[in-house]
Amino acid sequence: MVELWGRAVGRLRERLSPENFDVWFGPVECAGVEDSVVLLRIPNRFYADWISSHYLEMLLEWMRADSGDAKLAVRWEVDEALETSPRQSPSRASSRPEPPSLQRSRESAASAGLQPKYTFDSFVVGPSNQLAHAASIGISAPGSRRFNPLFIYGGVGLGKTHLVNAIGHRILEHQASARIVYVSAERFTNDFIWSLQNHRMDEFRDRYRQRCDALLVDDIQFLAGRDQTQEEFFHTFNALYHADKPIVVTSDSYPQAIRAMEERLISRFTWGLVADIQAPEMETRVAIIRKKAHVEGITLADDVAFFLAEHIKSNVRELEGTLIRLAVKASVDRRALDLPFAREALRAVLPVASSVTTVDDIQRATCEYFAIRLGDLKGHRRHKGVALPRQIAMFVCRRRLGVSFPQIGDEFGGKDHSTVISAVRKIGRLVEDDAEVRKHVETLERKLGF
Ligand code: ADP
Ligand code: MG
Repeated sequence: MVELWGRAVGRLRERLSPENFDVWFGPVECAGVEDSVVLLRIPNRFYADWISSHYLEMLLEWMRADSGDAKLAVRWEVDEALETSPRQSPSRASSRPEPPSLQRSRESAASAGLQPKYTFDSFVVGPSNQLAHAASIGISAPGSRRFNPLFIYGGVGLGKTHLVNAIGHRILEHQASARIVYVSAERFTNDFIWSLQNHRMDEFRDRYRQRCDALLVDDIQFLAGRDQTQEEFFHTFNALYHADKPIVVTSDSYPQAIRAMEERLISRFTWGLVADIQAPEMETRVAIIRKKAHVEGITLADDVAFFLAEHIKSNVRELEGTLIRLAVKASVDRRALDLPFAREALRAVLPVASSVTTVDDIQRATCEYFAIRLGDLKGHRRHKGVALPRQIAMFVCRRRLGVSFPQIGDEFGGKDHSTVISAVRKIGRLVEDDAEVRKHVETLERKLGF
């Protein structure tokens, strides 16, 4: 009867990427079937949770059909002696080399496949991410290609990776057999280079084109300047797009601002919907904190939630990290996580940069937003792609920090104060008259938490 499990899992293997399959099913052992119960041994609870939320229904359906036993169920048994890094499956146990991504996925289960906790349920929606969220739901729906491709951009730690994972989970909820390919652009690049060098491009194309029902690529800006990988991605994109498969791409800046990216790719990114994620407003930050506390089992008074949301503005990851560190500190110090404790502890745990914004913060945020180099921002090139960001950064330094014109000049690579004055005046005018510039300034300021 153990074959019952083997056959079901064998069918699943066809549908999953090999790395995904190995990571999750490699260590699972079927110990037998008794009284309509399939006993499965796993190294820890994590496997049970993940398999249950993704593939168990389908596996059970197959096993029930296979055995003719409609009541068939599964029982998990944790056996810590089992290897968490999966053994090689027999079919691939040969000495053939493996792509780096597969090797990496053996090291850590969490690095492969979708992140179980990044779902729509755990995502808090607010004005800052409403459009990206709605579009993400939209593209996850079967047959809905109105938003295809979906391009999501925004600063660090604002929920792009979370949303992309949620899309993957939602597509699987609609269609458990969908073959989701979720990769960072970095991993796509590594896979590509490896496959080229090892003459395995057929398999590469099979994985990313033929055997792919949805392609989710995180942090596409990584492809900047990598011409050959861009070329391959271009063809991958076309194949999937014409096969009507959903494509989702994330980036740290809007398509036109990605440095060293082929024009034809940029143009394709704008074929569907381009949605941004901004730093969340106060209300959203409070909601995120509360949700996170709930998930982590942390009891959090309202005033503490507000206090944290008030002080950590630019980045959700930091907001979450601070909450966790506070909770840990409270438990180590045996103190209640109340407002006096939070006030006292926050001074110690809050990264310095986020408490007081400096000229350097503004410069870095500007570079990140416009995807240009710090050297260029402080340099003397007058090309519009760097001159406008430079002027905007000067304007924000003046308006938000009140830094003197000569000092701004110094901080921007030794420019004359009259240059600074005219830059600040110019942007001041454009903020009134030019919607695009206004949006840049507002976005940048929001990102900095002003
Ligand atoms: P990015 O990929 O944009 O850098 P992530 O998706 O990794 O950011 O998000 C950073 C952290 O913040 C994650 O733990 C994520 O779950 C959390 N997060 C971001 N936005 C939200 C949100 N709107 N609701 C709940 N959690 C969020
Ligand atoms: Mg990310």
